Amino acid sequence: MATIYLDHQATTPADPAVVEAMTFAATHHFANPSSPHAAGIRAFREVERARGAVARLVGAGRSEIYFTSGATEGNNLAIKGVVRPGERRHVVTTAVEHKSVLDTCRSLTAAGHEVTVLPVDTAGRVTARQVAAALRPDTALVSVMLANNEVSTVQPVAEIGAVTRAAGVPLHCDATQGVGSLPVDVRELGVDLLTFSGHKIYGPKGIGVLYVSNRLADRAPLLPLLHGGGQERGLRAGTVNTAAVIGLGAAVAVLAERRAEEAVRLAGLRELFLSELAERVPYTLNSGTGPGFLPHAVNLSFAGADAQQLLLEVTDIAVSTGSACNSSAQEPSHVLRAIGLSPERIRGSIRIGFGRFTTEQEARQAARSLAEAVAKAAVGAPTAARPA
Ligand code: PMP
Repeated sequence: MATIYLDHQATTPADPAVVEAMTFAATHHFANPSSPHAAGIRAFREVERARGAVARLVGAGRSEIYFTSGATEGNNLAIKGVVRPGERRHVVTTAVEHKSVLDTCRSLTAAGHEVTVLPVDTAGRVTARQVAAALRPDTALVSVMLANNEVSTVQPVAEIGAVTRAAGVPLHCDATQGVGSLPVDVRELGVDLLTFSGHKIYGPKGIGVLYVSNRLADRAPLLPLLHGGGQERGLRAGTVNTAAVIGLGAAVAVLAERRAEEAVRLAGLRELFLSELAERVPYTLNSGTGPGFLPHAVNLSFAGADAQQLLLEVTDIAVSTGSACNSSAQEPSHVLRAIGLSPERIRGSIRIGFGRFTTEQEARQAARSLAEAVAKAAVGAPTAARPA
């Protein structure tokens, strides 16, 4: 039985245009783009072309784009690059950030810095007013994600950007989940640092983007995490992953063309899925489905169900319980806890994300399979309430 893949927040399949570009690049542009010979220069030109495509996607200048290995590295570099060791400084972030932001911030506290983690409302949102109230004279950085990987909440980053701009504090935005569905313009958002990964936008794994505004770079250059050959203008040493960069460029080109219409189609698939499901089994939404939430995703709970058990039953669909990025940790999702869900509702929660290659038939079949598994589990359970 073919798997219906509905875990597009965890990763996306590579677009055929990406595979084609990477295959060509691996064969024809294998030379080191730092090498001064003709083959190296050709590879360099391709890398720079991809950098230009990425810059255009987010409204940045080409010189403001740095390639990393992914959002985890980008988030580490953005945060540790600004908050230097030795100075005791303050950082503001939110309770629903990805672990690559939260744990990076936590690592700063061990080095003597202070971190304020802002709570969110039941939709998973922070306000610009909360950020304004948290700023201190020694605040070195604010880090707020564009959209949440578990409950799809889009944060008011532009409003927060207006606050941080006025205060002269750099703003970092982890745009990993948002950039595939939302228009992103670094100047409209008012961010100085922005990060994302190739593999969430139908590009390759192991490649990511860090945007650093020229304004910030001129005022206080970031401290690199990796030292070595001076690649990426000294900010990220290590031979550039040419094929992955070129693949990312191809992914970005497809995205720029399709994002708006794709968002509408995927919101339609989600509607179809939810109405098919509602005909068969009751559920509670843990994420919003209107404006202010990602169009392609939904998080829901089945009362009394154990989502992990359910997924063992539903072998034909790939979905996730909580964040797949840290699914090795068997603790309840920090995001679902932060929005105030009970342990019982968290236990029954499933995250579903539709993608570029999902069909209507798959959306319908997924609803049917899930509903069947829920019904089966309800028959098997001795009572609706399960031991805590
Ligand atoms: N930030 C967010 C919001 C994410 O969803 C993820 C991946 N799940 C990351 C950062 C980390 O990305 P990567 O694993 O590609 O480094």
